[in-house]
Amino acid sequence: MQMLHPFIGSIQQYSEAISDPDRYRPDHCPLCKVQQLLRGHGFYCRTLVDLGFDGVIRVRRYLCLLCKRTVSLLPGFALPWLRFSLTVIALFLTARLLCARTLAAAAAAASQTAMPYQRGQFWIRRFRTQAPALSLALAPLAAPVTAPDFVARALHMLESIGWIVAHRFLLANLRMHLLGWPAFLAPDGRVAAIRSGTPPA
Ligand SMILES: [Zn+2]
Repeated sequence: MQMLHPFIGSIQQYSEAISDPDRYRPDHCPLCKVQQLLRGHGFYCRTLVDLGFDGVIRVRRYLCLLCKRTVSLLPGFALPWLRFSLTVIALFLTARLLCARTLAAAAAAASQTAMPYQRGQFWIRRFRTQAPALSLALAPLAAPVTAPDFVARALHMLESIGWIVAHRFLLANLRMHLLGWPAFLAPDGRVAAIRSGTPPA
């Protein structure tokens, strides 16, 4: 299961911060809830595209000694299962949906001038689907917004709260993905095979 790393900062700072497994070691298991320090379980690597960065980052993993499941700490600038950083996606969506730029201009605003337009359309489609749920979920964090539709309302809220702050809130408190979980991880970002196993007593 993916949790968000408590660290806030740049990719470079993140890479340095995760070299010490004790520094952000979770003090309990979010899956079985046992109050016991999790054991360091190495890293996995994932690709990430951010402003001025296109490469691989390490993500620290921990193992729960009781339920034997792993927990990974994803940095707040990365979204589960999406290769592009939250910053890139936020710049694109804001330019396209809030400022009514063209697809090409929105891609340029996100420093992705060579991006295929289908990628941006994919983000837009997912965001439109999520917008009503986002507007509702983020209401406790944002001042009331007057907007013509859910898409504009959700964007205004995200801009005022801060995208990374909102992403942290959604994932940590509601297991909600800013652009919606894909079918294989729906509804809460956990692999369905685990959930469909033995139901909790
Ligand atoms: Zn556990």
